[in-house]
Amino acid sequence: AGTSEKLMRFLESGIYRFESSKAVFIDPVRVLNRSYSRFKVSPSAYYSRFFDTHGSRAGVSSNTRKRKRKEKQAATSLNERELAADRRHQEVRAFLLKAHESLRGANELLSVMPSLRSGEDAPAENIETWEPQQSLIELGRLWQASMFEITLNFPSSEEQTTGYQRILPVFGNLVVNDMDDDVEAEFLNSQYIIPRESHFYISDLKHIKNLVPDGGDCGFHLIVVDPPWENGSAHQKMRYPTLPNRYFLSIPIKQLAHREGALVALWVTNREKLRTFVEKEMFPSWGVRHVATFHWLKVKADGSLIGDIDLFHHRPYESLLLGYCSRKSGDSEKLSIDRAIPDNQVILSIPGDYSRKPPVQDLVLEFIPGLKPLRCVELFAREMRAGWHSWGNEPLYFQESRYFQPP
Ligand code: SAM
Repeated sequence: AGTSEKLMRFLESGIYRFESSKAVFIDPVRVLNRSYSRFKVSPSAYYSRFFDTHGSRAGVSSNTRKRKRKEKQAATSLNERELAADRRHQEVRAFLLKAHESLRGANELLSVMPSLRSGEDAPAENIETWEPQQSLIELGRLWQASMFEITLNFPSSEEQTTGYQRILPVFGNLVVNDMDDDVEAEFLNSQYIIPRESHFYISDLKHIKNLVPDGGDCGFHLIVVDPPWENGSAHQKMRYPTLPNRYFLSIPIKQLAHREGALVALWVTNREKLRTFVEKEMFPSWGVRHVATFHWLKVKADGSLIGDIDLFHHRPYESLLLGYCSRKSGDSEKLSIDRAIPDNQVILSIPGDYSRKPPVQDLVLEFIPGLKPLRCVELFAREMRAGWHSWGNEPLYFQESRYFQPP
């Protein structure tokens, strides 16, 4: 008793919309689970950080306070770029705070948040120090890469009463699970779970052109991009290789877009230099018209922010730039979408592993041009979704079976 219909819907879908503001709370585990039939994502493996409110990152540490003091002192001597960054921050600040206020007023949601991590499996331990059992990035660079094979174990189905195997090159090859069911795969010593009707292509950025479809009807309606931006942090360098900005200019967004046009969703950090680069160089060279920006505000399980909202170099949010791309130049104004995308929507969620982004397609679905079934692709992906194409140098990363609960 007492569970509202809205909360029930959240527990089903992983999405909770606040009426009082343009904000939404997401439980990525529930959203991702809609991609699987037999398997379930392990909540304890997903929420590897920021879950405990008592952890070292929680609250405002004395370090943070010192940093704030320092920043206050420095505030008078901000350079031009820092001033621009601050202006941008001030513009979104009110939206972020309003969204956070909505969360803090949503008692029924707050009451279930601490249990989002409880799954049916034993809690995974020390995930932060997990190394992939094998690095796809390193294997993909070997001269033998083209010889490595992955085995897909297709289960029996109504049409096919016995299970069967398919053995395919794992690198530089479009691997497809065309079945309406999860498929278990083996590559070297690891097991992977491949969602229904999904595709992956593992390659370096140099070979991304191989992803461009031949037929006119085969382009993508939604293109999500989360590039390995450089950010100068030593910590990041250990997790995955990064690339200088100019490398991303050559991503063939226009050729990847569907004949009916595409919505492009690009994750960016708060670095002002990067934002200027995207707006002035990258979007123009991709042929993307920027129309709206969403913000991902990171919270802990008790609903508090993961850090002080005004900390200059450690903002508790990142942004998602949304724009339209049309195959023909200048046509993006004419894409057939009924409603304009509302600007400054806020997505609240508890962060997962390092740099792992919440799944956003449900929030943009109604703004994607084109007719169903929509074709979606994620570039620089580390995971897969039912019905999607995932490309990057490690799109199987979070598909490893240890990120799932045992069936
Ligand atoms: N959106 C992902 C998620 O939620 O987990 C995170 C993507 S992360 C920011 C960027 C990805 O780009 C990493 O997996 C990294 O290995 C990959 N990457 C780096 N250099 C690459 C290259 N030259 N070619 C292809 N992928 C690359």
